[in-house]
Amino acid sequence: MPSWFSSTVVDDKTTMLTEPFVHSFVRANLWHLRGRDADLLVDTGMGIRPLAPEIETRDGKPLLVVATHIHLDHVGSLHEFPWRAGPSMSAAHFETMDDAATYANMFHHLEGAVSRLPAPGWKAADYKIPPAPLTRTLNEGDMIDLGDRQFRVLHLPGHSPDSIALFDEADGVFFAGDAIYDAMLIDDLPDSSRVDYRTTMRRLLDLPIRIGHGGHGPSFDARRMREIASGYLQKTEDIQL
Ligand SMILES: [Zn+2]
Repeated sequence: MPSWFSSTVVDDKTTMLTEPFVHSFVRANLWHLRGRDADLLVDTGMGIRPLAPEIETRDGKPLLVVATHIHLDHVGSLHEFPWRAGPSMSAAHFETMDDAATYANMFHHLEGAVSRLPAPGWKAADYKIPPAPLTRTLNEGDMIDLGDRQFRVLHLPGHSPDSIALFDEADGVFFAGDAIYDAMLIDDLPDSSRVDYRTTMRRLLDLPIRIGHGGHGPSFDARRMREIASGYLQKTEDIQL
């Protein structure tokens, strides 16, 4: 049976994984970055098949795993890893992974949930995300240190209230989660806020990135990120502040 995940080498330190057989709506990008003293994994996919065996760790280095927000397609395999960081705002929900926070129930009746069965007899209706209590909670301004590179935590609400992103200010690498990406942005979930999303987009207009790796869609440079952000601001001009 072929792997449930596909993986793409981005550069000598970065690999992108995704789940090609899940519905495109919940097919997220997972980012594995190798650092000097620790490695970083940004988001963990749906948790339909185990992710941990797919992530190569070297020399006993710790793997720091960060969830950018608590939606199903980003936290499904979080419980498989011992070091688990995520937004402090939704920390209580990581202890239960209740459907109201993850929207796992949306997947139960999603037409074409998977294009290939992950296991004999598997049913989307049985899909459940195991609890994954955070071992570190993250707030705006916190730092994630890999030894040779540091990522600053940015709180960028809108898509969800708890959305965070990681920014390496020295190198300009930006892991954006669902705060911004180069595909259809989702701002109409029950816990989305267009007003907050506009504030986030205004902030992103000035963020000096070299490359952005989003939760969905292809990676983007600073010019493309400004285009996406200003496009969103134009489209939602009529939103009352
Ligand atoms: Zn999301």
